[in-house]
Amino acid sequence: MTADITTDVLVIGTGPAGSATAALLASYGVDVLVINRYRWLANTPRAHITNQRTMEVLRDLGPEVEAEAMLHATHQDLMGNNVFCESLAGEELGRMQSWGTAPESKARHLRASPCEMNDLPQTFMEPILFTTACRRGAQSRMSTEYVSHVQDADGVTTTCRDRLTGRDLTVRSKYLVGADGGNSLVAEHLGLPFEGKMGVGGSMNILFRADLSKYVAHRPSVLYWVMQPGADVGGIGMGLVRMVRPWNEWLIVWGYDITQPAPVVDAALATQVARQLVGDPELEIELLGANTWTVNNCFATHMQSGRAFIMGDAAHRHPPSNGLGSNTSIQDGFNLAWKLAAVIKGQATPKLLDSYSAERAPIARQIVTRANQSIGEFGPIFEALGMDGGVDHDKIQRNMAARCDATPAAEAQREALRKAIAFKKYEFDAHGVEMNQRYSSSAVVSDGTKAPVNDDMELYYQPTTHPGARLPHVWLYDRQGGKHSTLDLTGKGRFTLLTGIGGEGWTKAAEAASKALNLPLQVVKIGPRCEVEDHLGDWARARDISDAGCILVRPDHHVAWRSAGMTADPEADLTRVLRSVLGH
Ligand SMILES: Cc1cc2nc3c(=O)[nH]c(=O)nc-3n(C[C@H](O)[C@H](O)[C@H](O)COP(=O)(O)OP(=O)(O)OC[C@H]3O[C@@H](n4cnc5c(N)ncnc54)[C@H](O)[C@@H]3O)c2cc1C
Repeated sequence: MTADITTDVLVIGTGPAGSATAALLASYGVDVLVINRYRWLANTPRAHITNQRTMEVLRDLGPEVEAEAMLHATHQDLMGNNVFCESLAGEELGRMQSWGTAPESKARHLRASPCEMNDLPQTFMEPILFTTACRRGAQSRMSTEYVSHVQDADGVTTTCRDRLTGRDLTVRSKYLVGADGGNSLVAEHLGLPFEGKMGVGGSMNILFRADLSKYVAHRPSVLYWVMQPGADVGGIGMGLVRMVRPWNEWLIVWGYDITQPAPVVDAALATQVARQLVGDPELEIELLGANTWTVNNCFATHMQSGRAFIMGDAAHRHPPSNGLGSNTSIQDGFNLAWKLAAVIKGQATPKLLDSYSAERAPIARQIVTRANQSIGEFGPIFEALGMDGGVDHDKIQRNMAARCDATPAAEAQREALRKAIAFKKYEFDAHGVEMNQRYSSSAVVSDGTKAPVNDDMELYYQPTTHPGARLPHVWLYDRQGGKHSTLDLTGKGRFTLLTGIGGEGWTKAAEAASKALNLPLQVVKIGPRCEVEDHLGDWARARDISDAGCILVRPDHHVAWRSAGMTADPEADLTRVLRSVLGH
């Protein structure tokens, strides 16, 4: 039977994972079809924190994609006053500078990446990625639902339902990508192994318009955490008033007891919760939407079966704490897309695809664990304030007020609260979690050294060119005065070899290897009077190799291999490494 549609890659889902993957594949010249069971892209703002690594993926898609994101984003300087309060109108209990806005953290952000962390609601991110995919020739089909698939030696035949006509259609593809979200049918059909539990907490979202500037103008932030009786029940650890658009569109997140049926969030309940958290009994809101959802703690320990892959929430299901969901989803796509392209173009063997799960499943485990741990780490704040899980409002008020006394106990309480709030940096300023992803797989060739680590790899980014790590960003300069990040000189679907003066042997080796393997491989030589110069000396400090050494960078900016210096037979060495990475 011939299929209705034939394509190289069928992507199920137009969320951040699916749209990013389609955009990347189309940019690499791969024939891709992306489908969505609904008629619309994200219609609620959901994901918003967009970290530097994700922005690097957008920058790799093109400066216009990064610029479009920044055009719609709330910039970092308006993100950082993470406020803990009784209500927006009520007493402020403490604050932490978050998302790279504390001076020391800001410096680390500036050093780490050419891109800026920002707040970009999913309602903006998805259209940017999806239209990039479409502009670059991806085929797309809305109102088209994945139903089932079968694999054989040569490809995958997928049955989809056209929801406009109710008719089934078949798609024949070389590969299938399940980016179909937290209730992934693709993952279920593949029978992939998962660890953890779904539905560990209940949460409700209330999306509304109201001008709240008077409560926030003096302390702009993305998140305002509200401590009230019941705030520690279910949900994400506390009541939350989240800025969607400054300062008149908001999302309230409030928990409910998961052992009870989910509440019906009607206009009356939504208004009551909004008034209670804002602390204004007269507040009028324009309710835009409300829904309930559950907190999950679940991840796939393997993300591939034959010619089919899962990514995004299909593989990692966790609460929004740390803002990792859409970021990790897009980064999954950046890992898989170049590998699919290399195999489809005949540059690599399918063995390369095995490295996807080997590299991304450990990340899924790490981020799901971190996001759930962050919920528990609100506990010390409740304890310090004397909120013991009860709903006795007067008792809680007395315990909170006790911290203002001139007694040793009150001083200890104040200190405990300060410490508990500062400890939330593991949720709101965990730069290492965002930037330290390192891979170990067949697509990385060890140089026999040990990867450097710092005191706290969750909090602090550790730059290194160790194989498997993301290439460190530093600024380099061309001879016309142009400024380029090391990440600008690499990526874009190609392998790149970085070398310096005395590394001419690598240039020749790259030409030969490129010809032998039919693989585009660009060489960038860095040094005085070379095509790019290291005026600041930052590259010399970051590269961990000598001038005549080399660093082989994969299309996703991760280091595939490095050589500390020139070797006796660079051509043989480079060809051997590339053959190994590409699965030959
Ligand atoms: C309140 C809230 C706040 C959040 N905040 C953040 C944050 O700050 N930062 C962050 O990074 N993440 C955040 N997240 C998480 C984020 O929304 C998800 O991690 C992200 O959307 C996952 O992207 P995805 O593409 O994997 O899946 P989804 O966005 O769920 O997309 C799945 C896609 O698959 C489609 N689909 C599903 N089934 C089928 C089918 N059978 N056939 C065809 N199509 C199908 C859907 O229509 C959709 O297009 C938040 C989530 C919530 C609920």
